[in-house]
Amino acid sequence: LSVIESVEPRIAEATRKELADQRSSLKLIASENYASPAVLLTMGTWFSDKYAEGTVGHRFYAGCQNVDTVEALAAEHARELFGAPYAYAQPHSGIDANLTAFWSILAHRVEGPWLEKFGAKNVNELTEADWETLRGELGNQRLLGMSLDAGGHLTHGFRPNISGKMFYQQQYGTDPETQLLDYDLVRAKAREFQPLILIAGYSAYPRRINFAKMREIADEVGATLMVDMAHFAGLVAGKVFTGDEDPVPFAHITTTTTHKSLRGPRGGLILAQEEYASSVDRGCPLVLGGPLSHVMAAKAVALAEARQDSFRTYAQQVADNAKSLADGFLTRGAKLVTGGTDNHIVLLDVTSFGLTGRQAESALLDAGVVTNRNSVPNDPNGAWYTSGVRFGTPALTTRGFGHDEFDKVAELVVDVLKNTRPGSTKAGGASKATYELGDGVADRTHAASAEM
Ligand code: PLP
Repeated sequence: LSVIESVEPRIAEATRKELADQRSSLKLIASENYASPAVLLTMGTWFSDKYAEGTVGHRFYAGCQNVDTVEALAAEHARELFGAPYAYAQPHSGIDANLTAFWSILAHRVEGPWLEKFGAKNVNELTEADWETLRGELGNQRLLGMSLDAGGHLTHGFRPNISGKMFYQQQYGTDPETQLLDYDLVRAKAREFQPLILIAGYSAYPRRINFAKMREIADEVGATLMVDMAHFAGLVAGKVFTGDEDPVPFAHITTTTTHKSLRGPRGGLILAQEEYASSVDRGCPLVLGGPLSHVMAAKAVALAEARQDSFRTYAQQVADNAKSLADGFLTRGAKLVTGGTDNHIVLLDVTSFGLTGRQAESALLDAGVVTNRNSVPNDPNGAWYTSGVRFGTPALTTRGFGHDEFDKVAELVVDVLKNTRPGSTKAGGASKATYELGDGVADRTHAASAEM
């Protein structure tokens, strides 16, 4: 930090503070983790200075031999770890991975067949009239994914996101009674809507998915099954999700982030079956420019870590800890979306505490518990204030927490929420944002979290 200090001391100071914050609070954001020193150090190297547009062995710049080594190793570790025929390590983030996957599917399913009809090798050979036809076809495709308030991600067809604008989209939710994914409903929607792409995966759904069933539905309607395992990739890597719960053998394309439960650097990754490999491999120039070679190097290191036996122990503990946290909430009378968990996520419905998600999130932060507010299915408070708080166990499991510590976390959270009252607006009405924390709660909980 002294090197940074000499150039921009405020950045050095912010970095110090970030370390202190991350070490002194209870990090329960389901999408966060603590990467190893090997992963963090690998990101701060000279690979950051190198341009390498293209793909391994086929670059648009000279001098990429070392980047080739790095990218090939990241892909090799990913293929071995997940048992995938093909892996692509270039996407800069989860959204990039999904965009790359969308355009690879469009290239494979729409552009390729039309080029053949036109007798052209690539789009540069098309006449203007042919190009207009192709552009119309590309813009005329359908996507079916899980809705945001059921736990899906923005990129799964949410209207304000590019996925909801570039495709005609429809979304599936969960069963109104059980809040569980209803495969019959997905099948009925798919039959009616006939999507080109069926997406499975989630950001806030606290249950596992049967990917064999999702593939069956995709096959029935001729859709490409794309699984976004950004959240649970660590549980797949650690063999907690196996058989029908492992998406990789069933999906045509699987996308993920590398920084959540997988515990790597911030970034994206794509796995694919052979038939999609060549279109994904054209991520650059399709969607991407120069890859972040230093991050691809860190992905290779993280994936090598995830291939060790100790990662399986970690992944199992992540799932066990989520159960301990859920049980801790339930025994203290709290209400959980779907009534529990069987992955790394616990979604607490805070309406029974008389709070919005926003109030609960802020009160917990005051008490040193870092979470994020989240919609619950059919949320009456909408996506901004919400009625839920999402908890995840990957980060604190990395810090060594087990059953007893997570039970204590549940106790702290319930203590804070029971002692929080909604505040009032300036006009004196009931606010969805402000809150009042009961006397002594912050001190009590900070002291407890410092002990852990
Ligand atoms: N897909 C899912 C399921 C996610 O939960 C997220 C991030 O929260 C993403 C994609 C996007 O990842 P990123 O933030 O790296 O773009």
